[in-house]
Amino acid sequence: MATQGLIGAVEAGGTKFVLALATFDGEIVAHSRLPTNTPVETWPAMQEFFTQNSARHGPISAFGIASFGPIDIDPASAAYGTFTTTPKPGWSGARFHDALASFNAPIMVDTDVNGAAIGEWQAGAGQGCRTLAYTTIGTGVGTGIVRDGRSLMGISHFESGHIVPPQDFATDPFGGICPYHGNCIEGLASGPAIEKRWGRSLDKLLGEANAISLIADYIAHLASTLVLLHMPDRLIFGGGVMKAPGLIEAVRTATAEKLNGYVQHPRLDAGLTRYIVTPGLGDDAGITGAIELGRQALAAQ
Ligand code: ZN
Repeated sequence: MATQGLIGAVEAGGTKFVLALATFDGEIVAHSRLPTNTPVETWPAMQEFFTQNSARHGPISAFGIASFGPIDIDPASAAYGTFTTTPKPGWSGARFHDALASFNAPIMVDTDVNGAAIGEWQAGAGQGCRTLAYTTIGTGVGTGIVRDGRSLMGISHFESGHIVPPQDFATDPFGGICPYHGNCIEGLASGPAIEKRWGRSLDKLLGEANAISLIADYIAHLASTLVLLHMPDRLIFGGGVMKAPGLIEAVRTATAEKLNGYVQHPRLDAGLTRYIVTPGLGDDAGITGAIELGRQALAAQ
């Protein structure tokens, strides 16, 4: 078997870039972090990391990118790998393929959420699943659906955070913060929405059982919708909001109530404790997924 070379992996976040050089088997031989400034600063720093570490460890065969967006993730598109309408100064129109062209290696680009979903499927709480739904409830809300290790998309990546859940305005008169929809799930249950509604993060509201149950109910609307649409083997819920003690338990209870016994399958255990889970990789999910995207880029050649 021919030598596989190394995989360059990038987890591009709104505040930092995590870079790694890994073997085909996923062993990380070099890693670094850069602040996400403008492309004029961040691209050359990224290039330098890969150039220097490739000189030390060997040639790079492929790149895997898990990035903030909005970004074009359609391999059939002429703009594949290009940031589209992001409000982040300088990034609209910037393209990973341009920044990494000098390495002459195949590149696979996906969203940060899909990258984390693939990472969890590969090495975290989604191991053994054929279909996995990974959702992050944090600054934003998004879901990656992974099927046999590949993220699913349509004309673009999915936007589960903008589903509008039923809202009882007597219990929760909050209008939400989404500039497009107001009270979509991101508008009601993201970290910034919780701060706007109560002036505190959810983990500081534990004395108020209503806060946990209200947020859990919105998240459970998304969870039950994901079950009905995708019938995943498992649902993972991560992100900063999900770290509030008691929330995942409340989401399981509320999801079971909404499904009301309609979906009968051994995967859906009593209490959903094995069906709805927290991430296994924590902060490493994104870079783990990016390495797998690099493997997929190589396989696609
Ligand atoms: Zn929205």
